Amino acid sequence: MAHVVVVGGSLAGLRAAEVLRERGFDGTITMVGDEPYMPYDRPPLSKNFLSGEWDADRVRLRQPEMFDALNATWITGVAATQLRTADNMVVLADRRTLTYDAVVLATGGVVRRLPNQPDVEGIHMLRSLDDATALRAEIVEDAHVVVIGAGFIGLEAAATATNRGTKVTVLEGLPAPLIRGLGETQGAMIGRVHERNGVTVRCNVRVESIEHADGRVTGVRLDGGDLVKADVVIVGIGVAPATQWLEDSGLTLRDGVVCNEYMNAGVPNVFAAGDMARWPNALFTDIEPDMRVEHWTSAVEEGAAAGGNAYAFLAGEEQQPYAAVPFFWSDQFDARIQFLGRATANAESVVVAGSEEDGKWCAAYFENGRLTGVLGVSQPKLVMPARRLLSQHTSREDALAHFARVTMPQ
Ligand code: FAD
Repeated sequence: MAHVVVVGGSLAGLRAAEVLRERGFDGTITMVGDEPYMPYDRPPLSKNFLSGEWDADRVRLRQPEMFDALNATWITGVAATQLRTADNMVVLADRRTLTYDAVVLATGGVVRRLPNQPDVEGIHMLRSLDDATALRAEIVEDAHVVVIGAGFIGLEAAATATNRGTKVTVLEGLPAPLIRGLGETQGAMIGRVHERNGVTVRCNVRVESIEHADGRVTGVRLDGGDLVKADVVIVGIGVAPATQWLEDSGLTLRDGVVCNEYMNAGVPNVFAAGDMARWPNALFTDIEPDMRVEHWTSAVEEGAAAGGNAYAFLAGEEQQPYAAVPFFWSDQFDARIQFLGRATANAESVVVAGSEEDGKWCAAYFENGRLTGVLGVSQPKLVMPARRLLSQHTSREDALAHFARVTMPQ
């Protein structure tokens, strides 16, 4: 009986396993995850769970009967430490070995630490349920919270903490928040949403050190000497792909596991998906030869593609290339941010509907003479229909005409 091992039993890995079953795989599936929990959903960890609205039960990804129906063997709380592709084997931290016919790698991301980050009380990262549980116990009324890094997770945590009555300062090294996700112009506009809601946003600052006394954080020292008082510090400086355990695997690692368009990692029976995978997305290779996406919808879709192609490999069927318009959302105060496509450093953004003053706007991103992204801030009706325009490489001119038409007052 064939055996598929899925390493990293979370969102992408779960989807891979589900698609294997949907396609008719009746062999053994073993799910390996280093967390002690069954798969849960991360987006609420910086939103409804962090705010205290939801409990841990509500963040699980599937109901127990759906896990039963998957009929997989779960190994939780144990990390994979090595992939030996020549032996078709995954080695686990407890020295167990698993031999596979196909393997799906889906180990996600590891939060980055500051170079001189001390291990004292009050300093938090936000990736796991345990991280969020520890943080939410500390964001209590009137606490001074400092968020280092104005990326999506940092800003969501800043909004949730502000709503819980804390005083939040966000520190960002670049000239505006969210530059890597949305570019400088739109990032600055989102930054001002935070300022209007009472968050202090300081950009172009460099953190020198985190100060502490008696085993607890007291503040953040900036380059130049300024001290920002802190009862709680959230380090939100991004994630690195969790590929350290693959370093001697022989797979190509370049800020992620390098895959082809079939989510295959270069060895016929090894596939990868989710935050740790990099692949050439045929709809965007004109602006990026390959990409790694750290968002929920991509993890689901890449997981499905990897699972489907693992099935096809085992069944001797034709594999399907995966290409898609990436999508993500983020909730910050009343702003529901949605983004379709890509916003590289070279893209130009143009507001095509609404305005910052309205608190609702839509921006189109252009690069290489064509539409490459669409941002909506509380503008859901304008974002989703643009998927077709993005996948068809609509020219700048035609895209602007489209937005002029759909936003024309009736
Ligand atoms: P993960 O969910 O990280 O799962 C990987 C799993 O593998 C983890 O359980 C990990 O512990 C485990 N693992 C790692 N190494 C090993 C090993 N060696 N052996 C065994 N197991 C291992 N996206 C959006 O689009 N919108 C949002 O609003 C949004 N909000 C988010 C909020 C938070 C707080 C976070 C952390 C993420 C958010 N995301 C959001 C991103 C989204 O959740 C991720 O893109 C998604 O979880 C990626 O899924 P994955 O399966 O690739 O990785």
